[in-house]
Order: sequence, then C-alpha cells, then structure tokens
Amino acid sequence: MSHSRRKQLVFTVKDRCRVCYTCVRECPVKAIRIVNGQAEVINERCIGCGNCTIVCSQGAKIFLQTDDDLKTLLKQEQKVAAIIAPSFPAEFTEMDDYKKFVGMVRRLGFSLVCEVAFGADLVAAKYKELHHELADYGSISSDCPAIVFYIEHYHPQLVGDLAKVVSPMVAMTRIVKEKYGNDTKVVFIGPCIAKKAESDEVDEAITFKELRTLFEENNITPENVNPTDFDPPHGGKGAIFPVSRGLLQTAGISEDILNENVIVASGRVNFREAIREFENEKENKHHLELLCCRGCIVGPGMSKRGSRYSRRANVSNYVRKRLQDIDMDEWKRNVEKFSKLDFSQQHETRDRRMSVPGEEEISKVLKSIGKFEIKDHLNCGSCGYDTCREHAIAIIQGLAEDEMCLPYSIEKLHKSISDLNISNESLASTRQALKQSEKLASMGQLSAGIAHELNNPLGVITMYSNILKDEASEDDPVREDLELIVEQAARCKKIVGGLLNFARKNQVNLVPTNIIDFVKQSIASIIKPENITIYSESKIVDPMANIDNDQMMQVLTNLEKNAVEAMPDGGQIQITITGDKENVSITVTDEGTGISKENMEHIFTPFFTTKGTGKGTGLGLPLVYGIVKMHQGQIEVKSNADNQAGKTGTTFKVTFPRGSAGY
Ligand code: ADP
Ligand code: MG
Repeated sequence: MSHSRRKQLVFTVKDRCRVCYTCVRECPVKAIRIVNGQAEVINERCIGCGNCTIVCSQGAKIFLQTDDDLKTLLKQEQKVAAIIAPSFPAEFTEMDDYKKFVGMVRRLGFSLVCEVAFGADLVAAKYKELHHELADYGSISSDCPAIVFYIEHYHPQLVGDLAKVVSPMVAMTRIVKEKYGNDTKVVFIGPCIAKKAESDEVDEAITFKELRTLFEENNITPENVNPTDFDPPHGGKGAIFPVSRGLLQTAGISEDILNENVIVASGRVNFREAIREFENEKENKHHLELLCCRGCIVGPGMSKRGSRYSRRANVSNYVRKRLQDIDMDEWKRNVEKFSKLDFSQQHETRDRRMSVPGEEEISKVLKSIGKFEIKDHLNCGSCGYDTCREHAIAIIQGLAEDEMCLPYSIEKLHKSISDLNISNESLASTRQALKQSEKLASMGQLSAGIAHELNNPLGVITMYSNILKDEASEDDPVREDLELIVEQAARCKKIVGGLLNFARKNQVNLVPTNIIDFVKQSIASIIKPENITIYSESKIVDPMANIDNDQMMQVLTNLEKNAVEAMPDGGQIQITITGDKENVSITVTDEGTGISKENMEHIFTPFFTTKGTGKGTGLGLPLVYGIVKMHQGQIEVKSNADNQAGKTGTTFKVTFPRGSAGY
C-alpha cells in the first residue's frame, strides 16, 4: 500500500476556532499545534482519524472535500465504478430499500455500483487463512487506515506486526479492475476520512456526507430513481464488517475469542492502550483488531443522524435480508475465483515521533507555568493534555503554549487585575494632582491680576509714607506710626511680589534654614486667643533644610491660622517636626471642628471657604499647596468632623526635601 500522505486531510477554520482545546484533547497523536491561541493541524502528524472533526462543536475542523474532483472524473468518457462501504445502511436510514440507494448512486453517472462487502469477504477469508500464523506470532489487523498510519508514524517498530493484507476497499478495487478492466476508475464511498489517503490504487474517495451533498445538488431522491441491485460480485457476510468485531465475525473467528487471544478495541484511548500493551507483552501473542474512531458506523464522514445502536441494527437488518436472498453458489464461485488475486500488502515505516526533552528542560518549563512542586500539578486536562508534564513537553516541542494552562492563566489574570488596580490608583492620584494644578493655574492668573493692580497703589503708599516719615522730626508722636506704615507696606509689597512670582511659577529662593527656629518664629507671628495653646516639638537630629523663607512662612502661618479658626472654643495645636536624611515634615494638628468628607475635596480650590463673608478668602490652602509643590514637597490631610467617630480635629502634614542643606 502506498499512502499518498501528501494530501492534508483535516483543516482548521480559524474564524470558527474558539480555543477550547477539545481537538487537542481528542487528537490521539497530538497533531494539533496551538500558535497564538489558534489551533492548526500538522499534516505530517495527522493520521486522519477525524476525531477532531466530530468533537469540535464550532465546526472549526473540517476534512478534505473531494466531491468536486469526483464530478470532474464522472464527466470524463470513462468507466467509473462506485464501491460502497458496507456501513451505508447506517447512514441512509431513511431508505426502506437498498436498491433505491443503489439507483441514486448510479444516477450520479457511475457506470457500476459495487459493494465493498465482497472485498471484505475475501479479506476475511485471507485473515482466516493466516489466522493461526497471526495468532502464533501476534499481529495487528490492517483494515483501519488510521490505525495503519498510527503504527507507521508512532510505533514504527511494530510495522512488521501489521497483517500483510490489504483493506476491504483495496481488495474490492483490485476485484473491480480484474472483472471490469484495468481502465475502470474506482471511487470509494464510505464513512471514513483516512480512506482519502489510504491508497493510490483507488482513484477517488468521498464520504457519505459528501455523497448526500451530491444527491441534493442533483436533486436525486429515492422517489425519482429506478431501484437497481448492486453490480456483481455481490457481497456475503462481509457486509457485517463495519459493526464492531465485524471482520472477526466475517472470518468466523469471533466465537472462540477467548481461546484465540483476540483483542478488539476502538476509540482514541482504547486503541492506544491496546497497542502499548501489545508492545510490552509481546510474548502473549495477541491479535489486535483496532479502530481509531468509535467505529465505521459513526465515522467522521457520516452525517449526525440516528444513534449508534439504531445504526448498528440497520446494518444487521440489512445483512440479514441480503443473506436470505443471496445466491450462495454464485457467491462461493466468485470467492473462489477472486481469491486467486494478490491481496497482500507491505507497510512502510514513517517515523514521526518527536524526541522527548530532558528532565531539566521539562522542569524549567513546568516552573514557568507555576508548577514548582508535584502538588502544583493539577493535571486538570483543561489544556488538552492529560498531565501538566505532557503539556510542558508539548510546549518544548512547539506544539503548545503556556497560556493553555487554565490555572496559570487565571493566576496571571488575577495579577494583571491587581497591577491594573495599582496603576488605576496612581492614575487617580495623578488626576487629582492635575485637577489641583489646574485650579492653581487659575488661581495664579487671578493672583497675578490682583498683585499687579495692588503694586501701584502700594508703591504710592510706600513712597508717601517714607516722605512723611522723613519729614517728621525724631520726637514727633506720629513718626512711630509712620514707621509701622512703611514697614507693613514693605511687607505687603514683598507678598505681592511673592504672589507675582508664584503666578509666574518662578523658582523658589531656597536658603538653608533651621526649621526648628523657623517653626517657632511662625508661631510667634500668629495672633491667637487666650484659650488656645500652641506646642511645638522636634524629633529630628538635624534641623537644617533649604526653603524659601517668605513663602514657607506663608505655608505655616496659613495652616496655623486655619487651626486657630477651627477651634472657636479653644484647645491645643500641636506642631511636630520629623524627618529623615532626605526629607523634613512639619505636622500641624488641631482639636477643631474637622473637615467634613464633602468639603475635603474642595479645600484646595481657590475661594473655597466655609467661613462667613469678610472672614475667609478661600485663598490660604491653594497658596499653601502651590508653595509646597514648588518646594517639590507634598501635603497630606487627615481629618475627623464626626463626633461619633471619635475626637474631632485635623492634621496637615507638609513634607519637603532638605535640598543641599542638612547632613
Ligand atoms: P479660609 O481660611 O480663608 O476659609 P483656606 O483655604 O485657608 O481658606 O481654607 C479653606 C477651608 O478649609 C476653610 O474655610 C475650612 O472650611 C477648611 N479648613 C482649612 N483648615 C482647616 C482646619 N484646620 N480645620 C477645619 N477646617 C479647615
Ligand atoms: Mg485660611
């Protein structure tokens, strides 16, 4: 048998693939590779069992369609014989008379319609002839092409154990050519995909599914054809071949199955297990009768009609009926005549085994998908591989991807979610800062306007108060007042200048300053009622830091003034200086009314004030914020305005870098 394995038998429709890995799981030879989350069939590894086309609920796995090639063949001026697999009663269950079915096939343009069942009769006879020899040495039936491919590809050392007998399809092809001439083209019609690549002797192979399409296209129905019988030679018991143990039953060797050491297995798990056992226990000399899918009557080339057991019953009923009508003498004559033909078959070795990677490499990949210890090996099968180890090996072999591991992907997802949360939080705080700097910018514009307007009248006040002061004699009682006016006007000018600087975002004028003294100075400049006391405490070793004195003084006095104003009934204000090598923090804590949650987000907004008109300006905290930011610092607020939640009060903490001063 020469397998024209160049043909790709199964394809993936990428758009339909939903990446469930069911095909990976069901593929007995791992011929499906996942690349970028997409499944693709590796032709060299595929044995054409068609399991994946059956299990894919999305219809993303389709098999090679050759009905168009058949149409071309039928158009040629040549004798074309259809040879029908004996499982046809399991597919065309709606047909009450097989002769109608034969008529329909003939109507498609076939010159001859024969049954593979007769080929099965002769193959069975061959097996019977060889049986004692086969059983003595142990052997594997070669009637299922997917099994033959499997042995050739994945157990090449067992190729010699494959029965050297052709399949019923090839046997029938040889019989048809012998009877009707070598130029007769032969088309196999059956339930199997692998048949399309089994033998070059067969000119075309289509499935029952494709046959149904052809019937529909040509509007051929059981009602509009002439019922005819199959062309000879007619099949006998071989028609029972497609039901499990069919070949053995046909060969008459199934009755004493125990004595004869025959093992029958079908389906992707069972057949592999049987082969493994066969290989390991060769001395037991079993004969294996194997099918790759779940049997010819539910083959991948069948449409999904009817249940397995009713299909089986249909085949049995058909065979029973046929055997009643059969002309046994003629059948025997035919068997005798055609059994002279050569039905032998040689099998080839086509090793497709992949090398198994080393332990070190496997454990490295296992670790990369979170399997550090044996207890991490969940072997859940969600990736399509039975064990985590098999998945790891497949990753190394380039067949699988790490994302296929569901527990690993879920864990990765959790991590991404928490990463996302973190970046979300930082985004929120950046947004907050941005909002604040927008507010600051508008406040800057405003203060620049005011400062500009104030500058001129202040200049006039300074100039005239100086003139008046100079004119007043040393002992003039107004001189002291004039000096105060000059001094305060100068201070105003400085602040206005500072505001202008701030508005222009000028750099701060940093000078090394003793923060402890500086805080004390700020406390001294505050006007406070008797019932309020201000304490200051330093917890730092080195008090030196680089700050802009005028501006930072505004920060402290504003915070202190706010604290005083928040305590109409008196209390204590605590100022604490802390710090480390890089930063200095000044904390101002009061026992005042606190800031409500609703107000909290507004306190840095220019002109936001809860104090009555004429009392508050709402410019204190925005200014504080701007100055702290210009010092590359930070400001934090904690407050409780709810009596029930505990003592009320507010803490402002200003932190800024020491700059080159200190340490
Ligand atoms: P103003 O003092 O002119 O109202 P600020 O910008 O200094 O403007 O303060 C804005 C608002 O923030 C105040 O009106 C007040 O509601 C609130 N606030 C600021 N500091 C405190 C504090 N220590 N305790 C309670 N509320 C405060
Ligand atoms: Mg204020």
